[in-house]
Amino acid sequence: MYDPKSLKAEEFISDEEILETLAYAEKNKDNAELIDSIIAKAELRKGLSHREAAVLLDCTLEDRNERIFKLAEQIKKDFYGNRIVMFAPLYLSNYCVNGCVYCPYHMKNKHIARKKLTQEEVRNEVIALQDMGHKRLAIEAGEDPVNNPIEYILECIDTIYSIKHKNGAIRRVNVNIAATTVENYRKLKEAGIGTYILFQETYHKESYLKLHPTGPKHDYAYHTEAMDRAMDGGIDDVGLGVLFGLELYRYEFAGLLMHAEHLEAVHGVGPHTISVPRLKKADDIDPTQFDNGISDEIFAKICALIRISVPYTGMIISTRESQAVREKVIRLGVSQISGASRTSVGGYTEKERPHDSEQFDVSDQRTLDEVVKWLMELGYIPSFCTACYREGRTGDRFMSLCKSGQIQNCCHPNALMTLKEYLMDYATPGTREVGEKLILDEIKNVPNEKVRGIVIDNLAKIENGTRDFRF
Ligand code: SAM
Repeated sequence: MYDPKSLKAEEFISDEEILETLAYAEKNKDNAELIDSIIAKAELRKGLSHREAAVLLDCTLEDRNERIFKLAEQIKKDFYGNRIVMFAPLYLSNYCVNGCVYCPYHMKNKHIARKKLTQEEVRNEVIALQDMGHKRLAIEAGEDPVNNPIEYILECIDTIYSIKHKNGAIRRVNVNIAATTVENYRKLKEAGIGTYILFQETYHKESYLKLHPTGPKHDYAYHTEAMDRAMDGGIDDVGLGVLFGLELYRYEFAGLLMHAEHLEAVHGVGPHTISVPRLKKADDIDPTQFDNGISDEIFAKICALIRISVPYTGMIISTRESQAVREKVIRLGVSQISGASRTSVGGYTEKERPHDSEQFDVSDQRTLDEVVKWLMELGYIPSFCTACYREGRTGDRFMSLCKSGQIQNCCHPNALMTLKEYLMDYATPGTREVGEKLILDEIKNVPNEKVRGIVIDNLAKIENGTRDFRF
């Protein structure tokens, strides 16, 4: 029985409810009256239910689809302005005891080089990342209680936060590790992590069991209920995602929104972020073995619909996607992107991009400087801001900042100040020139006069060597 408030995976992600939702969407895919009423509701910027969003996903009326894309663009502008938050993944270990059939880290893959960073190697990777200009990381690891126990992850987090190289600092560490216990989530919280990210991979239980045939990840309920345990452990910023390509996208899309509704219903706060990874080629993995790949057009529509269905949830896109696809979906709603990512353990300290322990092929292989310049030339402000969780604005406190309309007096100045740090410390001359001009133009868009004055003051102080200002 479907119950968003239930703590049982099969009740809050009810297969029956998803199938009914898909049938309802199919039946109404050209029902202009219903579609107009759903779009009108989305225009109120309070989100949509999974059923409503599913109808829009199926909608075949071209003019309505255009309205959906326009609305997503507008909501993106209203809620996130033109800021794009930057981050990089850091792979700690590819030891893994699971059998995920789509992932090169799966236990039976004997030809991938297994590596686990020592603390000295973590240091060197972090210094390399700091020297590019990164301030925010997402740490990644396979699941292996012997090689990568929670103590190892915690030690790495400590090391990462402790490294202050030149003007560099990692100020926010997000964590993408396998589902774990409430007690371990509490330890992660105490270690000062930002968001806990865990992709569901697929919400379809039967497929899930086949795609994860062995290892602890085989347990669908344990995996699906992980975010509840994370929240019970005190982590109130959690990041959802599905790996598009494994199952039918319509099913996944409904499941993803139901998961968000469940978190809101039980914990009073929805997901902090949603990631939209698509399956990629990797060692021992051929994505054509999976026949549910989605086109760039459907992918863009999914991004647009996530934007209008959960307006307060940030959306993340990785370097799995090409520059062209990233450009398209940034406009439609993505608020965070990675840059210069290396998906191999120890990859950042290698001169050439290593492929032997890569988790997936990286489509966007540009440097961080190139990505930053590209964003600015498109009119975006690359932001290295990490202020919210450091100021205690997590969970519902972050949501109330969004809802208060104060973002332009808070996130916007933080973006400008952290971009200024980047330009001073890491940018090439060409990027710096574009950035300085952008900052001058954008200062005018800080509405509050007093705040604007402080920002101008702080920008001058950054010019003179002081770092880490924030609202
Ligand atoms: N091991 C952790 C877990 O079990 O959730 C998470 C870390 S894993 C390094 C991060 C994510 O990479 C996975 O959740 C999966 O969605 C994604 N991934 C795995 N294989 C992939 C592939 N071939 N192409 C694209 N993404 C992949």
